[in-house]
Amino acid sequence: MTTNDNLPHWNLSLLYEADSPELARDTGETLALTERFLRWRDKARRGDVTKEEFRLMLDEYVRIREREIRLSSYAGLAFAQDTQDQKILSFQGKLEEILAEVGNKTLFFVFFWQSLEDDESERLSEGLPAHRHWLKRLRTNKPHTLSEPEERIISLKDITGRDAVTTLYDTITGRYKFRSHFDPSRKGKELSREELSVYFRSPDPKTREEAYKEFYRVYGGDGPLIAQIFQAISRDWRIENVNLRGYPHPQAARNNRNDLPGEVVESLLSVSKSEAPRIFGAYFKKKRELLKLETFRRYDLYAPYSGADEEEVPFDAALNLVKEAFSELSPDLAKLAMSVNESEHLSARLLPNKRSGAFCCSVLPEDCPWVLMSYKGRRQDVFTLAHELGHASHSLLAKDKGVMEFEATLPLAETASTFGEMLLAKKYLDGSAGVDGGRDVLFHVLDDAYATVGRQAFFALFEIEAHDMVFRGATADELSRAYLKNLETQFGDSMTVGGEFAWEWTCIPHFFQSPFYVYAYTFGQLLVYSLWNVFEKEGKAFAPKLIRILSLGSSASPADILASAGVGPLNDEFWAGGYGVIERFLNALS
Ligand SMILES: [Zn+2]
Repeated sequence: MTTNDNLPHWNLSLLYEADSPELARDTGETLALTERFLRWRDKARRGDVTKEEFRLMLDEYVRIREREIRLSSYAGLAFAQDTQDQKILSFQGKLEEILAEVGNKTLFFVFFWQSLEDDESERLSEGLPAHRHWLKRLRTNKPHTLSEPEERIISLKDITGRDAVTTLYDTITGRYKFRSHFDPSRKGKELSREELSVYFRSPDPKTREEAYKEFYRVYGGDGPLIAQIFQAISRDWRIENVNLRGYPHPQAARNNRNDLPGEVVESLLSVSKSEAPRIFGAYFKKKRELLKLETFRRYDLYAPYSGADEEEVPFDAALNLVKEAFSELSPDLAKLAMSVNESEHLSARLLPNKRSGAFCCSVLPEDCPWVLMSYKGRRQDVFTLAHELGHASHSLLAKDKGVMEFEATLPLAETASTFGEMLLAKKYLDGSAGVDGGRDVLFHVLDDAYATVGRQAFFALFEIEAHDMVFRGATADELSRAYLKNLETQFGDSMTVGGEFAWEWTCIPHFFQSPFYVYAYTFGQLLVYSLWNVFEKEGKAFAPKLIRILSLGSSASPADILASAGVGPLNDEFWAGGYGVIERFLNALS
């Protein structure tokens, strides 16, 4: 039995002590360095910068970034461990202002870099040990960058425009309270979204149905209002990215940010459009059979298999399971993952005001990343631990890359974390985890595959359609009807879908906060399945390839990083190979 007090909690004072002189010093230094950096501005505007001067300028720019990252990471971590800490909230507010000022004052560096002719930028960056890909990427944005005053106006107007609208979405939906009438033990109590969604996985079919109906009673009630917010965000995105920045279509701006060619994303989504309904449709039919349900409804999608009480996994045993699972592939990887707890950078303890969920935060390349979760001893928590420690080993492997390039870009960001979960699942399925969990684990793997691969791919397909519809003046009801159609294509005859699910799209925060973000989930997970194919064939010999992919961070494009490890090309066949792994798990269920 693990008691809560025995669970590790990180030692954040290793980063900064609250209210410490170091914190004040680094904040002051960031501003001082920025003021000093301004001495380059006139030279940069005139474009007369020698190779030597460019190195100095770049070096200073990076040093400012490093301080910013350390300070904002500290503020974020301190807030996450205690979201009611008023001192941290006020520090965060102050820091935001400072960072906005720093951002504005250093922006000329980007403009200078983009204004150069190709041969000049080549000459200046030639022989640079780090930052080369980052610098190259800055230049690929050149055709989509406006003039310096225009950029400044956009970023200033965004604060009261787009950002304010997005915050409005968060504020409105964040206040939602749900009734708990379907649970006699909580009668009269109001539930948060997180508390309500626990019931989506209830073993009781009636409870699942009631919980979903309550969820959409609230979201649907505000449907037209939320649709208005979506319309504003979608129009703003199109006006800025298509009309002003000249991208060929709204999604292209995101593809560029993800360092992905449009064809790769198209291939991903077109394969998903046929494979996801086929494979997950078969999975849902199988699930209905195994759960002995007469009909299968959307409410039953996340129904648990056994519903039996799970045996609690003590934290030390969980950590050991993760260590053993990672060692199956590479003892080095396991060692890196374990170093997080050993360095007192892991918070697993349950604390009253702690942020919910889990994350891994990398600060600077040379620092051990920080991992936060609330460990409750369920098998799900062991998977979360494997996931977050996977993220941490990813950063640690890329520590030789500079601060601008050690963190993976979005499409590769989930490689180590998801691979870590797969290694853990394998351990459970082999029976070498010391518990019998075969079918439950397969359900876990397949539910997860659906939620990350199939569901997100169909979100992405809807999002493309919805932005187009808004452009042509669609109403809230028209958007919701299109969403129901999307669900029909996705689920076919594998389940019945209640009409209230027409409002599901209004409760997906990514649609509002980061347009066209969701396909990265499908990308990342299918990529890992494809790597899994190689691992199954090659065994431990695959380890150096994976480690190579991870250690490159974002120092090249995702396609180039994968190609350098002999993985790819990212075409239809590649994605279909990923779906093949899901199908194999499905067949193992029978
Ligand atoms: Zn993750």
